[in-house]
Amino acid sequence: MPSPQNATPQASIIIIGQGLAGSLLAWTLMQQGIHICIYADGKASASRVAAGLINPVTGQRFVLAEQTPQMLKYAQAFYQDIEKKLNIQCYFPLPIQRLFNTEKERINCRKRLYNPTYTNYFQLTDTPADLQAEYSGITQRHAAWLDTNTLLDALADYFEQQQSIKHASFVNQTNISNKQKVIFCEGYQMMHNPLFSWLPMQAAHGEIITCKSKDILSPYIINKGKWLLPSGLHTCRVGATYETGFHTPTLQETSKQTLLNFARHLFSTNKGFEVVNHQAGIRPATQDKQPFIGFHPQHRNIGIFNGFGSRGSLLIPHYAKALTDNLTQAKNIPQEADISRYKSLCP
Ligand SMILES: Cc1cc2nc3c(=O)[nH]c(=O)nc-3n(C[C@H](O)[C@H](O)[C@H](O)COP(=O)(O)OP(=O)(O)OC[C@H]3O[C@@H](n4cnc5c(N)ncnc54)[C@H](O)[C@@H]3O)c2cc1C
Repeated sequence: MPSPQNATPQASIIIIGQGLAGSLLAWTLMQQGIHICIYADGKASASRVAAGLINPVTGQRFVLAEQTPQMLKYAQAFYQDIEKKLNIQCYFPLPIQRLFNTEKERINCRKRLYNPTYTNYFQLTDTPADLQAEYSGITQRHAAWLDTNTLLDALADYFEQQQSIKHASFVNQTNISNKQKVIFCEGYQMMHNPLFSWLPMQAAHGEIITCKSKDILSPYIINKGKWLLPSGLHTCRVGATYETGFHTPTLQETSKQTLLNFARHLFSTNKGFEVVNHQAGIRPATQDKQPFIGFHPQHRNIGIFNGFGSRGSLLIPHYAKALTDNLTQAKNIPQEADISRYKSLCP
């Protein structure tokens, strides 16, 4: 169905980009009865490559960030509400079988086990026999994965039905009225936007492979620095690489081999892995690891909603609500994410 030609003039908020950030912000605003128009240029999007993993306790030191339990609860309810309203399934709670890479990691984790804040996130279990676990492992609870492609396709259809999407690149900024707001959700392409290129993005290139196995794979996520996510009885996704300094989503043979070797070495038996797909994307990561949200210091009707790095699935629902509350109730944007922290860099 073609997009309406008059979508821009009617909408009070124009959103640029139909990745996870633009789509979930658009959805949140529409739930408040706000008329939006979302521009989708159909180009490379991190959201279409992402595994959508949500892992509350992260890193080699097993850190649970202060806001994570609240964000997790909100994200879960948010995705389940979309599932119900759009009649799809996109949010899958799934435990992580975490295998320690070193003795130090094992000790770090054991220390957390006796901390009441953390106990709910771990379960002491025997490591499955077919996994190579030199330093043993643990089961991490309250993890999940988001099927971003199913979600984004369903949201695109919904925006289409609501006559709220334009399949075009947003270039012409002259026909925006003063009563309209424009929010840029361009992912890493923010680096080419003269209005916001002063913000310190640290884009991170990442690759993922999809493998076929001759055996039936276990139905949990395995993490040993990198991860393996089952996607069918005999298929899984394996990722991800993380490299800064790239500005195009290039496929590299060396990354493919690294990921394939990782998958092979996870198991004590030969699973006969064969690569059937290889994808690359650029994460919109930021120097201080916090999102970029807020309005341009000189153009107060032009805003940004970006910088969700490697954690878009968990962070975006929470911050979409925060920006919606700012737009509808003049509530403050959370300090850690507000771009006013960088206003001295704005030319
Ligand atoms: C390999 C890899 C693995 C990842 N794994 C995970 C994971 O397991 N868990 C997780 O939470 N996150 C993961 N991420 C990160 C996740 O992808 C991001 O946090 C999130 O998807 C960012 O969404 P976004 O909408 O900001 O950017 P994008 O998804 O890049 O979307 C931006 C969109 O804006 C469009 N656009 C740009 N300019 C214009 C314009 N002028 N007009 C119209 N449209 C425009 C682009 O074409 C694009 O579609 C991963 C990323 C990668 C690359």
